[in-house]
Amino acid sequence: MNLLDKYNRIIDYMRISITDRCNLGCLYCKVGAELQTHSEKSSNTSNVILSYDEIYKIVLAGAGLGVRKVRITGGEPLVRKDVYKLIEMIKGIETIKDISITTNGLLLEENVEKLACAGLDRVNISIDSLKSPIYKEITRGGDIDAVFRGLYRAAQFGLTPIKINMVPIKGLNDCEIEDFVRLAMDTSYQIRFIELMPYGRNAQWNNEHFISAAEIAARVEKVAALTPIRFKVPGVARYYRLNKGNGIVGFISPVSNHFCMTCNRLRLTSKGMIRPCLFSDAEIDIGTVVRRGAGMDEIQEILLKAVNEKSVGHRGNLETGTNSMSEIGG
Ligand code: SAM
Repeated sequence: MNLLDKYNRIIDYMRISITDRCNLGCLYCKVGAELQTHSEKSSNTSNVILSYDEIYKIVLAGAGLGVRKVRITGGEPLVRKDVYKLIEMIKGIETIKDISITTNGLLLEENVEKLACAGLDRVNISIDSLKSPIYKEITRGGDIDAVFRGLYRAAQFGLTPIKINMVPIKGLNDCEIEDFVRLAMDTSYQIRFIELMPYGRNAQWNNEHFISAAEIAARVEKVAALTPIRFKVPGVARYYRLNKGNGIVGFISPVSNHFCMTCNRLRLTSKGMIRPCLFSDAEIDIGTVVRRGAGMDEIQEILLKAVNEKSVGHRGNLETGTNSMSEIGG
């Protein structure tokens, strides 16, 4: 069964933020008070975020409607305890065909084995610099060596293809675009360049440091020629094969070239809100309904309402968003 929205898009993908806490404070993602959320508000936050049982119920309801793919994200998903238990629960839903996680990789090394045994299929790792001092600066203190130890271990456990998300930032890490292309050429990691989104409270800073996907692609082409790869099921990234090595790179251009017509997703925030679109503040409370013990029909009704509210495209007004990506789940 396919779940279709008003514009005939198949909605088969749920992105679930399981926490808005993060162990990094990336310059373009977090500002001011948000930086403290992981240490200061922990006891409050845990009172209101969805439990794994509640998330499971929502995924089960979604699966009954046609959701086939699930991605766990955050905040940083691996700061939440026992994520593998949630993976195992979701993996048990027969019609969920793909379960993946987006992580900054810092806690991957110690978690990979449990995640893989629980049934995790793949991992996306966010790495904005290969140079330790620049990585530290962008993430406000992250340790790139720990990330790579996690990445190697994920590869050993077959959580592949490993996709690396890199956000080029003018004046900070854009000098490394070519290095990331070489990494794609020399390894089996797929590098996805993501346009810096002028989102929420960081809108102005991000706008000043924005580089378009077209500019990034021009830089990539100085290293290797690009041949488009067409997938049967289009996603948000446009992928290209490099003419050197086995490399694949992708471009995600939410700002300069919206991919709304291929949008196949619903988002669930850690606090139990369903978001039809990342770039709109519209959200529907599903957590309260699940908590009062609603049956599958009632939960599915809310998911259908959210699908029905998916708009044909966002209007590029990303700056009006009041939340940061770490709250919604990037
Ligand atoms: N902590 C995890 C991680 O680092 O992958 C998952 C959450 S993070 C919000 C998910 C992705 O969103 C990361 O790849 C991050 O680079 C990206 N992101 C966050 N804010 C962004 C922005 N303003 N523009 C573009 N990408 C952004």
